[in-house]
Amino acid sequence: MHVSPLMEGSFDADVLVVGLGAMGSMALWRLARRGARVIGFDRFEPPHALGSSHGESRIIRTAYYEGPGYVPLVREAFDLWRELEAESGATILTMTGALMIGSPSSEVVAGALASAKEHGLEHEILDGTQVGRRFARHRLLDHEVAVHEAAAGFVRPEVGIGAALGRARALGARVLNGHAVERVAPIGGGRAGDGVEVRVAGRTWRGRHAVVCAGAWNSAGLVDGLEVKLEVTRQCMVWFRPRTPALHTPERAPVFVHDIGGSRALFGYGFPSVDGETVKVGVVARTAPQDPEAIDRAIHPADLEAAADYVRGALPDLDPTPVRAVVCLQENSPDRHFVIGAVAPDVTVLAGFSGHGFKFAPVIGDIAADLALQGTTSRSIAPFSPQRFAHKLHGSHA
Ligand SMILES: Cc1cc2nc3c(=O)[nH]c(=O)nc-3n(C[C@H](O)[C@H](O)[C@H](O)COP(=O)(O)OP(=O)(O)OC[C@H]3O[C@@H](n4cnc5c(N)ncnc54)[C@H](O)[C@@H]3O)c2cc1C
Repeated sequence: MHVSPLMEGSFDADVLVVGLGAMGSMALWRLARRGARVIGFDRFEPPHALGSSHGESRIIRTAYYEGPGYVPLVREAFDLWRELEAESGATILTMTGALMIGSPSSEVVAGALASAKEHGLEHEILDGTQVGRRFARHRLLDHEVAVHEAAAGFVRPEVGIGAALGRARALGARVLNGHAVERVAPIGGGRAGDGVEVRVAGRTWRGRHAVVCAGAWNSAGLVDGLEVKLEVTRQCMVWFRPRTPALHTPERAPVFVHDIGGSRALFGYGFPSVDGETVKVGVVARTAPQDPEAIDRAIHPADLEAAADYVRGALPDLDPTPVRAVVCLQENSPDRHFVIGAVAPDVTVLAGFSGHGFKFAPVIGDIAADLALQGTTSRSIAPFSPQRFAHKLHGSHA
């Protein structure tokens, strides 16, 4: 990192981290571990249930249908989740294996196989009968198959965030909760090395670098230079009661993603039972973008229909009467790939995790530490450049 000699000594911290959800808590931990002076800010008290990182479980899988380029990152993430467990004593990652279900040409199945092939990942392709025999809670349609891999499971988001913040604090990080950051702006003329100001609750904090990772609120005018159209959608996670709990234990029930297709729903996904009594299922539907400040957090009958319909068809052992449900915000980039990198001198943004970012959080946090402290990273993040959309916003056809 270039340090302007005039500014030496006048900073409150080396790095200011704005938003302490999945990405921010991990960035704070990885930065503090490297000995950086760090301050983290959150408008709420993380871990909390008002952003994108709650609901007790998040899928982690290796044969990544969203693109083979994610595989090296997820492999590193597995190691870092284990490292966080070892440092904190918390149980965060449970291995269950995964089933990627759909027609052979579906995005989920074909994409998982492409990643498996490119990286030589162990997997099996199962037809509906084989799935029914080994994983009896599932019912596949005649034309569907499943890709099974063992290198998958789930992480506990609230436990993971709490553990990372606990470790960061123990390593000297300051955490300032309860006030929304109003603005992140380069100091002075905005030359690299001049540093950044973060304004919150009537005070201005100065850092050599800022990492902005405000999730659904990234587009709320916090920082200039983020020329990406990020949309927030409202998703629901729904819990159902099994008739035969033994079919849904982490030992017997892999996490799954099911490419449903059709006009209303895109994917069904689900977990084994985490509490021994209920099973969480979600259906990612096409929904209209929302204002994150005006999200309807109440659950309405219509919120439950898609998941209940899905359960009736694909998971017949679950009683389709929902037990509970919660709203979650999903922040989407235009191409559903991550947005990671500098948007101004000394400002790194971690955004657009598009419904699939949690599993990567510790490696994204480590990449943020690389970028904040060294200005570069050895990981392949060029495809996530925030600048890749700029020509579209400016109407150029370059
Ligand atoms: C229903 C659902 C299911 C998902 N399932 C999976 C899955 O199975 N596997 C997976 O890998 N991913 C999954 N994801 C995606 C994953 O959960 C997200 O990509 C990830 O949690 C995003 O983390 P984040 O740090 O960007 O946002 P958050 O964790 O929401 O963190 C943002 C933080 O910024 C704070 N903040 C906002 N504005 C300000 C401000 N002005 N000042 C200070 N603080 C601020 C917020 O309070 C919040 O704590 C799912 C997402 C959803 C919605």
